[in-house]
Amino acid sequence: MTKYLFGNWKLFKTPRQTEDFLSAMLEKIKSGPKLSLELAIFPQNISLTAAAKISKGSPISIGAQNIGPQTEGAFTGETSVLACSELGLKYILLGHSERRHIFLESDEMISKKMPLVVDQKMIPVLCLGEKLEERKSEQTFKVLESQLSKALANQGQADFILAYEPVWAIGNGVVASPERVLEVHQWIKSWLKKNGFQQATPVLYGGSVKPDNIKKLSELPAVDGFLVGGASLEIESFCQLIQQIS
Ligand code: PGA
Repeated sequence: MTKYLFGNWKLFKTPRQTEDFLSAMLEKIKSGPKLSLELAIFPQNISLTAAAKISKGSPISIGAQNIGPQTEGAFTGETSVLACSELGLKYILLGHSERRHIFLESDEMISKKMPLVVDQKMIPVLCLGEKLEERKSEQTFKVLESQLSKALANQGQADFILAYEPVWAIGNGVVASPERVLEVHQWIKSWLKKNGFQQATPVLYGGSVKPDNIKKLSELPAVDGFLVGGASLEIESFCQLIQQIS
């Protein structure tokens, strides 16, 4: 199965920096061996137009990091799924832990956004994950069960992607152990099966993925790819990630 490598750029890179990164990256890809990975970059919203333009028709897809829960109206500061669709984006991240914990997005709000993305023929990438205290008190599966069942309440049979990102592993260099990642991914896959969702739904891992730990994680049978923050920001480390799992 094709592995996914998604770069979440968070609040980094201006439109010009986005353009520079993507044109250099596309040159490298053109001159290298044929890729068998599904690559996508998620720039901040104001850089999406530049990213979509430069990567049109290329092996790098573009996604947004979030959308608002309405398509249009008096909602100052939100991003419409209709605008994302017009740009030709392929994916929308939803429920990233920074949205949940810094901007207090609820599961209910995330569940409203999932069908908006699907209606526009884009693919939602739903992020899930437990906080450190929840892991310590052995609440991980309870938390994931609640996040999954609420966010997918309106999903039906449309395609989506899941990204398991333990909050305690994001942005701090503390990657989850391969044993733990395997256990959680297998649990998520059996939850999908039990609840009538497609067995082939990809489940990505995210949280301090780096060129020196990605290979071992990618060999795990239940890991379909990665959502990478910090290590996707530099061309060199992004290329190393590609090489490690190609
Ligand atoms: P990180 O971020 O790779 O910098 O830990 C991952 C993410 O937040 O998606």
